[in-house]
Amino acid sequence: LDEPKRELPEIRRSVVIVGGGIAGLWAAYQLARAQIPSAVISYAGSDRGGVQGASRRSAGAVNTAPLNLQDLEGYLQDLGRGQAHPDVASILDAYLAPALADLEGLVELRRVKIGKALAKGPGHTLLERLDHAYRELGGTVIDGWVTRLVLDHQSCRGVQYETPTGVGKLRCKSLVLATGGYAGLFGNATRTNCFGTMSGRFLRAGGLLSNLEFVFKHGYGNIDANAVTPTEELPGAEIRDADGNRVTWLEETLFSQEGTRSHLAAVRFWSQNARTKFFVDLRHRPLYLRFAQLKKEIQRARKSGEATAATRAREEFVASFPVDARATVHHEITDPSASGFALFERLKPLSSDQSPVVFRVAPLIYFTMGGVAHSHLRTSLPGVFVTGEAMHDFGANRVGGLPWALYLAAGCLLRDQLTSFAAGDWCGDFELLPQRSSFDSPVFDSVQAHLKRALENGLNPEEAERSLVWLRNERRKLCAGAATFGDTEASLLLAEGIVQSALLRRESRGFFLREDHPTEDTRLDTLVSRARYEPSRDEVEVTLRSPGDLALECHAAWTRSEPAPAYESSPNWSIL
Ligand SMILES: Cc1cc2nc3c(=O)[nH]c(=O)nc-3n(C[C@H](O)[C@H](O)[C@H](O)COP(=O)(O)OP(=O)(O)OC[C@H]3O[C@@H](n4cnc5c(N)ncnc54)[C@H](O)[C@@H]3O)c2cc1C
Repeated sequence: LDEPKRELPEIRRSVVIVGGGIAGLWAAYQLARAQIPSAVISYAGSDRGGVQGASRRSAGAVNTAPLNLQDLEGYLQDLGRGQAHPDVASILDAYLAPALADLEGLVELRRVKIGKALAKGPGHTLLERLDHAYRELGGTVIDGWVTRLVLDHQSCRGVQYETPTGVGKLRCKSLVLATGGYAGLFGNATRTNCFGTMSGRFLRAGGLLSNLEFVFKHGYGNIDANAVTPTEELPGAEIRDADGNRVTWLEETLFSQEGTRSHLAAVRFWSQNARTKFFVDLRHRPLYLRFAQLKKEIQRARKSGEATAATRAREEFVASFPVDARATVHHEITDPSASGFALFERLKPLSSDQSPVVFRVAPLIYFTMGGVAHSHLRTSLPGVFVTGEAMHDFGANRVGGLPWALYLAAGCLLRDQLTSFAAGDWCGDFELLPQRSSFDSPVFDSVQAHLKRALENGLNPEEAERSLVWLRNERRKLCAGAATFGDTEASLLLAEGIVQSALLRRESRGFFLREDHPTEDTRLDTLVSRARYEPSRDEVEVTLRSPGDLALECHAAWTRSEPAPAYESSPNWSIL
């Protein structure tokens, strides 16, 4: 550990929000508009495994289907195979419409197939706009790294954080965790650099996490660049193995613009053929775009009765081909029986777009569906709320745009919930610890390698057991004799919870696939995994519970009069 650092001036706010992605900043903006004093603390540096956060890279697509569905709960449970958090539907139902209206008051949105999306730029442009609007309303934003959650068995006292210039104390009555997911713990993940360290600290402080085994995988990962290609950019793609054998059923799905619903089918296919390398070739994408435009023009002309417009569109389309192919193209597109994918297939060899634009495709983890257990965003630690990807939200599957829809809605629910807490009494003060938490790259690399070996392409129970032993031993070594609990220890603890949860779920469900248990077990339909740190054994304990029981546990924490076991055992670490 470095030398203890200078103490920064204490800051007090009714609410402290940890995390400045869409979930945290949106909640903060809602609080500021309701005149609830708050501060956001988020880390903008790049020396903890790279700049963190999924929101800044997101296209900000918001799925608006929840606004029109008769049976939203039924839809989400069917999609999530019974594992969606039971409060997701009611939060979306109550708050998505007003949240979207608020967002449209702040930035321009455009229509997309699944609903709305940011009109300009990726998420980080919106984050800048939100940051500005929040500060203008009196909000405080701190660039710092939170290293301790401080609470006693009845209330939350605040957090300890560090900056390059010192360690500081943020006192609050309520804390909101908006620290994002834990996809970064997996080697085969997009580089959002979110390692779930705060979730690990929360676990160590006695908090409950649920459904850690469920992660969402993008079906069209560019595995060499560790990037995902938005499914809207994939219609027209060819998908082939190294011998040139095409996966036409998937190409046709993408061509029909069903990509956002096809991730699970694609991931299952890649996993079943894990020994084969597959490639996406986008050479015909320009042709697809011209073809789609032609279809649009013809439909428009048909509606308005302008036959000449349709003829002109056809002529322009034909003219985009090499001269010697034009007669055939003309014949193909005027044949009334020809349409869709089959016609596109016949046009491809006639086009001049023949230079390969290829990437190797494989599943890429880019969203974690489990996380902090909660009941209407109240966690199992008193005074601590959660929002965003940090929480258990969706189940064994989800579709594009649902996360942003939920996190926008959740910000409004938090505002309503926190209105009453802002008026409550201040809790006790706490001492700062002279500690610093640094990023230990080699250990994180090893965690990624272990999770990859144990969990990629279906769980490997022997590898998983071996990883569990390694994760535990590594953490115990680091903790032995240490007065503080660092980021590495927190991530090792979280990874232990992930592996244990995966081992306990003896079935395949949605994105959770096991070779040794290849089908869904109906007895587990509505049981979620619950991870808790057990201090007497110094290990994570995972059990299966009904969501109702978990909700009761969260409620009980807010009215507890006796310290929970984990509190007693860690007086100098994450908590008082
Ligand atoms: C490439 C990509 C595209 C996506 N596109 C969409 C989409 O179009 N629509 C959709 O609905 N979903 C999309 N998703 C998913 C969605 O964007 C994320 O789930 C969502 O943005 C997560 O937001 P968040 O605020 O919870 O977390 P994040 O945006 O990950 O933010 C977490 C923040 O917490 C901070 N933090 C963490 N720990 C600490 C600490 N100890 N101290 C201080 N700060 C801390 C981090 O620095 C980070 O800034 C996409 C994801 C990816 C990766």
